[in-house]
Parts: sequence; structure tokens; C-alpha cells
Amino acid sequence: MRHCPGCQMCELRIKMSWNWLCLKMNGVVHCAQRRRSSARLPQNCRRMKLLSGILITMATLTFAQPVLAGDLIISRTAFVDATGTLTIADVAGRVEAPIDAPILWASTDSAHWLCFRVRAPANGSKVVLFIRPTFLNEVRLYEAGPGNPLTWKTRVTGNNYAYGDRDRANISLGFVVDVAAPEATFYLRVKSRSSAQFIVEALEPAEAEHMDHERDLVEVFFVTAMVCLLLWAILSYLLNRVPVVGLFAIHQAVYTLFGIVATGYLAPLSLQGFPHLVDWVNVTLYLTLNFTTLLFCRELFKPYGPPPILTRGLNVLLWTFPALLAALALGYNALAINSNAALIKITWLYFIVIAFSLRVEGTPRRRLVQAFFVAVLMCNGAFWMVGRNNRIASVIGLTGVQLLIVDGLIIGGLFAMMLHTRARQAQQQGLQSAVNLLLVQEKFEIEQALKIKMEVQAQTDYLTGLFNRRHFVELAERELSRSIRFERPLTLLMIDIDHFKAVNDTWGHSTGDAVLKEVAQMIRDTLRDFDIFGRAGGDEFTAVIVEAGGEDALEVARRLCGIVADALIISPGAGRVQVTVSIGISQLNGRNIDLKSLLHEADQAMYNAKQAGRNRLAVCD
Ligand code: GH3
Ligand code: MG
Repeated sequence: MRHCPGCQMCELRIKMSWNWLCLKMNGVVHCAQRRRSSARLPQNCRRMKLLSGILITMATLTFAQPVLAGDLIISRTAFVDATGTLTIADVAGRVEAPIDAPILWASTDSAHWLCFRVRAPANGSKVVLFIRPTFLNEVRLYEAGPGNPLTWKTRVTGNNYAYGDRDRANISLGFVVDVAAPEATFYLRVKSRSSAQFIVEALEPAEAEHMDHERDLVEVFFVTAMVCLLLWAILSYLLNRVPVVGLFAIHQAVYTLFGIVATGYLAPLSLQGFPHLVDWVNVTLYLTLNFTTLLFCRELFKPYGPPPILTRGLNVLLWTFPALLAALALGYNALAINSNAALIKITWLYFIVIAFSLRVEGTPRRRLVQAFFVAVLMCNGAFWMVGRNNRIASVIGLTGVQLLIVDGLIIGGLFAMMLHTRARQAQQQGLQSAVNLLLVQEKFEIEQALKIKMEVQAQTDYLTGLFNRRHFVELAERELSRSIRFERPLTLLMIDIDHFKAVNDTWGHSTGDAVLKEVAQMIRDTLRDFDIFGRAGGDEFTAVIVEAGGEDALEVARRLCGIVADALIISPGAGRVQVTVSIGISQLNGRNIDLKSLLHEADQAMYNAKQAGRNRLAVCD
């Protein structure tokens, strides 16, 4: 534990996280919180900066890749086979609707037919039909030739087929085709149980290779960035235990898994005897994604006091998750996926409504939360529009996958930053609470000590340290009633120093005080611990001999007289002083009598002892 540099006087120091707090014992905060210097940034903050740095560097590297590939496709047309049963003979010559490069479809059970006219860059050159995304269940290629289409050359690839059987033995899907100059026509039949933005490009083999590497880099970057954010979220939650951070960690885990599955990393599993497992995982994660987003954002909005009616709306949206899962379990995959796609859009629009209805200011500021949700909606909107309209895609200059990645990163990054601010605030509140707790604890301890001190003072004689008259009476009364109830013996002694005035007069008042203290101590030492002994006032003492009567008690009194008489009290100013005491004795003897009467009797007896010549005891008749 280190000293607070701001104040060397601190008597109490506590260390919490990176802050030092110093408190003074009198309850005043002496040095509440040390300012953070840049050299002592909180670990969390440093991690956040490092993470942002890595993400920005990786993003720059990924998106700075020059686009080298030139598409060799001259024209594209498409046709949807709603029943999924048509043959190439049925379709050949019918695929007439022209389409742009990316084709988007939501999940259906239909088969999608695409027809391409591919230009040969050189006579009889090899061309790679480069297909994205990698996650497509089955893609069948027909090379158009003369005669009956049923006799055309056909090949198949996709995630339902082993890598080894594919034309291009790597993660990307595609076919290597021989294109006779000047051009050749190809048909693709695509079946996939997930929704997809689907792109086919015809590239020279070197360009296809380059695109593969580029896409690998994007996928690695995406997965790494998502894993980084996930680790940050888990770590943050473990450090601060803020529920919203925990929910973000869960959401981030689902998003990361979804990204991993969607980029084809689980595809090999479908070859291990689980052909539908990857599909199922992909779709389930897709549904879960919106659910975890809702859970997390509901918690995020809580401190800002969203209108209860809007919060109830969030709960309704949450309940759609089990309904979608049920639809999936019953085999309505397309319905579940398409509903979820619509639901995601509704959810993000709904978040905007909530963000602009927040009634309480918080950390981070309300304005920032609103800006954040608008930014996310814009990213999502761009992604949705790129999927729908290829002209927008060419204006933005990013493909759908790139936008999805940017989207994921912006959402993840912004959420992480917001939560970081929130977690820091929680940590500071924790510190403040700790300070307040310490102050309260300290105040309580001081008050307790004061109370005990005052209680002791109220019961004690200031000079001799014996019980004062009031407290003696309290204890004696309790003991007397107990002795009466249980018919036990009890003896009361009234002890007075003989000619004490003469001591004061001869050696002075301070010697008198010393004699009083010494006599009190001698008597206290002679009596048993449980006997009650107090100073009645002046040079007069009272004692209750508990559980003793008759001759036993008289013996005690005699002993007291003897001990005092034999003692030489040494006082600095007076040398040796010798005093005697006279003792009046009153015994209970089985009577039902009050303390006042017993004291009176003892007083009377003491008077008799004085009359009889002092330094003796007298028993009340
Ligand atoms: P007796 O034998 O009859 O008791 O004679 P005495 O001189 O002791 O007479 P008494 O008991 O009446 O005197 C008590 C004296 O004790 C009176 C007062 O000056 C003195 N005294 C009372 N309280 C204190 C005290 O706190 N300190 C000192 N030094 N003297 C006290
Ligand atoms: Mg006296």
C-alpha cells in the first residue's frame, strides 16, 4: 500500500482499482480521489485504445486492397424455378430477365437459374467462374453446347460436396471452365437454404487466385476483429460485472459465431455426416442475433428511462424469438428467415424511436446514444440498399460482404466504446460508494466509542475509579432482590475513614486524594470480584458482600479494618500516612427489606462504630 502523494497526513488509505483514496479518521474526506495521470491509464482504457488501433490498421489493410480482377461476363440473366424441379432442358433459352452482378434472394425453397455469356480473353483460355458467398448448398454448372441441353456437360459443387470433388480445391466455390473464343454460355442452378447475396464473376485464374487471398484476408480480419471484441467484452464483464456488458458479451459471441458460420468455416462439418447441421446452426444463429441484440439494447436503454409503453414493445419483439424458433422446428425455414430479416429492420427502427424518447440523462450522454443508433441504422440501411440495388453498391464502392463487415465492426466497436464509458462510470460509482461506506463506518465507530466512554463516565467515580453512588445503588438493588428471591445471604458494609478531615488539614488536599485512592484500592483488592464496591461520597465507601452473611461477612469486615490500619500510605508531599476505617454492617438475614433501609441500618451501625472509638466494626442489631 502506497501513501497518497497529495497528503502525507492520511491515516486511512484504501486502494480500489487504479484510484487511491485517502480519508482522515475524523470523518472528513481528506483526499477523495487521485487524478489519473496519462502514465497510469486504467487497464481497461489502454486495452480499448489498443483494440481500436488493431481494428483500424486491419480495416485499412483490408479495404486498401486494389481491385485487380476484371469480370469477363458479358451478360447475365436469371430465372427462378419455384418448385425446384425444372431440368436444364426446361430452362435453356428461358432465363431472360437481365440482372446486375450481385443477386439477392431471401431464403426460399426455389432453385435459382442464372445464365452467363463469358468472353474468352484469349483463344481457348481457361476462366474461373468465381462464386460468392462460399456458403451455398449446391451449385450446378451446365456448359451450353449444340444439341439437347440434357447432353450438356455438367458439374456440381457447394457445401454439400467434398472439397476434394470441387474444381477449385480451396474455401471458395467456383468452376474452372474452358472458354472457346470469342465467348461461351453457361448455366448455373443454385440451391441454398439460407438467404444470400450471390455474385458470380468470370476471372482469369491468376485474378481468381488473388481474389481468394483477398477474401481470405477479409474473413480472417472479420473473425479476428469479432473475437477481439468478444474477448474485450468478456474481460470487461469479469472486471466490472455490469449486466449490460455481460449481455453485450453474449450478443458479441452470437455475432462472432454467426460470422464464422456465414463465412463458411463450419462447412467441412457438413461432410462429416451432418449435412443439415451447418444450415441449422447458421439459421438458428441468425434468429438468435436479433434476440440478443434486443436483450442487450433493452438493458442499455434502462438507465435513460425509456417510456414504459416502448419498453413493453421491446418485450413483444423479444417474444417473436421463440415463435421463429418454433417455425424453424416445424420446418418453415423460409418463413422464419424472411420474418427474421423483416424483424431486424423493425427492431433497428424501433431502437431509433426509443433512443429519441429517452427521458433521463446518463452515461454516455443521451445525444451520443441517439447518434450511435442513427449511425448503426445508416450502416444497416446501406447494407440493405446495396443488397437491393446494385447501382448504390457501385456508388458506395463496397460489396455487400464488405458492408456487412463494416456494419458488424461499427456496431461492435461503438457498442464496446459506449459500454466502456458505462463501465467506467460504474467503477467510479463503486469507488464513491466505498468512500461513503467508509465514512459511515468510521462515524459509527466514533459514535460507539463516545457512547461507551460516556456510559463508563456516568457510572464511575472520577477520583477512585470505583462505581459512583448511582451505579452502586443500581447494582446493589439488583443483587438485593436476587438474594431475597433465592433466600441467599447478603451483607452491606458502610466504610468511613476516621478523622479524614485531619489528613486534609495536616498534609493537604492532594495527600487526602492520594489516601482516598489508596484506601479504595486496598478494599477493592481485598473484596472478591463479584462483590459490589463503590464510593458513596467524601471519605465514605459502600460494599455489598454477595452470598455472605453472619460470621463470614464479619470476618471480611475485620480483615478490611486490619489491612487499612496496617497500611502505610506513601504520599510524595507527606511521607508516610496511616489511617483507619470504621465499618457499619447490616445483614439481610432472610428479611424482605429494601436497599434504602439496609443502607440506613449500615449507616447507623457505622455511627455506632465511630462512637465506640473508631477503627472497628459495628453490626446493626
Ligand atoms: P470522622 O472520623 O468522624 O469521619 O471524621 P472525619 O474527619 O473523617 O469527618 P468526615 O467524615 O465528616 O469528613 C469528611 C471530609 O472528607 C470532609 C471533606 O473535607 C473531605 N473530603 C470529601 N471529599 C474529598 C475529596 O474528594 N478529597 C479530599 N482530599 N477530601 C475530601
Ligand atoms: Mg470520615
